[in-house]
Amino acid sequence: MSLREVDPEASRIVELEKKRQKETINLIASENHASRAVLEMQGSIFTDKYAEGYPHKRYYGGCENVDLLENLAIERAKELFHAEHANVQPHAGAQANMAAYFALLNHGDTAMGMRLTHGGHLTHGEKVSFSGSLYNFIKYGVNRETERIDYQEIEHLALKHRPKLIVAGASAYPRIIDFECLRNIADKADAKLMVDIAHIAGLVAVGLHPSPVPYADVITSTTHKTLRGPRSGFILCREELSSAIDAAVFPQMQGGPLPHAIAAKAVCFHEAMQPDFLEYQKATLNNALVLAAELQRLGLRLISGGTDNHLVLVDLTETGVTGIQAEVTLGKAGIVVNRDPVPFDRRSRWVTSGIRLGTPAATTRGLGPEEMKRLAELIVRVISNIDDTTVAAEVKEEVRQIATRFPVPGIDD
Ligand SMILES: *Cc1c(COP(=O)(O)O)cnc(C)c1O
Repeated sequence: MSLREVDPEASRIVELEKKRQKETINLIASENHASRAVLEMQGSIFTDKYAEGYPHKRYYGGCENVDLLENLAIERAKELFHAEHANVQPHAGAQANMAAYFALLNHGDTAMGMRLTHGGHLTHGEKVSFSGSLYNFIKYGVNRETERIDYQEIEHLALKHRPKLIVAGASAYPRIIDFECLRNIADKADAKLMVDIAHIAGLVAVGLHPSPVPYADVITSTTHKTLRGPRSGFILCREELSSAIDAAVFPQMQGGPLPHAIAAKAVCFHEAMQPDFLEYQKATLNNALVLAAELQRLGLRLISGGTDNHLVLVDLTETGVTGIQAEVTLGKAGIVVNRDPVPFDRRSRWVTSGIRLGTPAATTRGLGPEEMKRLAELIVRVISNIDDTTVAAEVKEEVRQIATRFPVPGIDD
């Protein structure tokens, strides 16, 4: 029996979500639209299977097909990123990071990570996350003037605090990260280097952002952001760390893996090796450049003055509008974004002074430079008329007209 027949109430909510996705434009930098193939695999009968352990070393019978799929995912991940070892079992990005820490650190050890308010992630040592409570994280950030990562500060802090691990990677940083420089700093401080490419994995896969693989001891990632796969995570590392990483994922951190998610990761890695994935990532970058240039032309201030990647961080301080106001009102206008702290933000993390905009999802639907220019105008119009519900309603109608011209994978194909 179909979902609609079994559970009309839940099914109706899926229809509401389809309508929402079709009629709005998603500029959340960490989201994307997975392909029908990925969705099909993630909804497949591999949901039913227990497969604790690793291929050919399982604690359950009947794993021969899961073994095939997990090995396929592993081999594809290694090929895609030119890595020596891959673990495709972490349930999500946070779990990938937890396993990496379990493999590399003991409780109480000192590590370094980027400050959340400067673009870092919760799991890079924030106190409210396991990472900040289990380990002693020293935080680094961006330079106040350039708003780019301050590598000199990182070196200074690393030599002073002698961390066992330096964590790089970010959730809201619009610039290229210099992994070679970080490797040199880690070597000077006798630290290991972990790079979390959750956001930029798709760009790294096609060579549009330098790869950390030659430099980092461990690389962690999600699969659902620029990589456009299922909601999940994975880890890459050098051969000598493979046993430690695998043991940290299972049995230390997780029980049974999610075979349906692993299967969908295999499909995602396959899609990322196809020529059109490179074209997609190029279009994502170009859309971000056009969006950034147009927002600036219309008077908004961008952190670091622009972007090298798929996202822009807008500092709304001078407009008098808060991040939360902008997020809520743009949402009413059909433009889905998230608020984000800007570096040295004086507002609380709940309110914030910024919004983060990303192009991966809109580019997947086929929106191009023309639409980005128009979106920039509409965003500025909403922010300049933040209390005017008529403006929001007008913009919403225009956004709906634009959005419905572009199909959503998994809904319209
Ligand atoms: C999104 C993100 C994560 C966490 O991923 P989840 O799948 O939400 O657990 C980890 N690190 C960075 C840098 C991220 O941007």
